[in-house]
Amino acid sequence: MPVSPNFGERRGGLLPEFVVIHYTAMESCDAAHARLCDPEFEVSAHYLIDYDGTVHALVDEVARAWHAGAGTWRGLADMNSRSIGIELANDGFEPFPEPQMAALETLITGIMARWDIPARSILGHSDMAPGRKSDPGVRFDWQRLARAGLSIWPDADAAGTDSFRTAAVRAGYPADVADDALLAAFRLRFRPMARGPLDRVDTALAQSFANLSVDQTPPQA
Ligand SMILES: [Zn+2]
Repeated sequence: MPVSPNFGERRGGLLPEFVVIHYTAMESCDAAHARLCDPEFEVSAHYLIDYDGTVHALVDEVARAWHAGAGTWRGLADMNSRSIGIELANDGFEPFPEPQMAALETLITGIMARWDIPARSILGHSDMAPGRKSDPGVRFDWQRLARAGLSIWPDADAAGTDSFRTAAVRAGYPADVADDALLAAFRLRFRPMARGPLDRVDTALAQSFANLSVDQTPPQA
């Protein structure tokens, strides 16, 4: 299997501090694999996980793969230089099979250990690019990842006075997106079945997500 030529050096000495999860939105893993290794398309990811859990390593973790594009998290740009990208073979509508999710959990566990990345820094592409990207989509089981300590899950009973937007931006969402795109991106991850206008559950969840997203590490003396 070819290893992707689509990578460069991480800019400004940046190291991986996030993991960005994607789906391929293609009809097969082979087609996605070919695309991610084709210099014509100038896209790649560090890993591609097949339906059966096979992990294809396409770009060395040290290098900058081309998966994130425009977007920010916590105000940080050039997410490609700051992250490791994982593509899940999925057409965008189907469920993610158990062997694929198990392989993802194993892979993320290793990445978090190798680069000292906390659970709050495991993101979906849609988190950093609201309105532009919707992967890994409504079928992706973020709660499962959180139960395994590989993501965080907010509490709907959280108290706070922030507006939804203030809390969401404090959590890390880009500030320069419209209200509806921000709400859609948030619900995609935390309330995929929710419809209608912003409500108090959105606001409470965003408040909790922001609290969990803040670095709890005390500053070094
Ligand atoms: Zn993506």
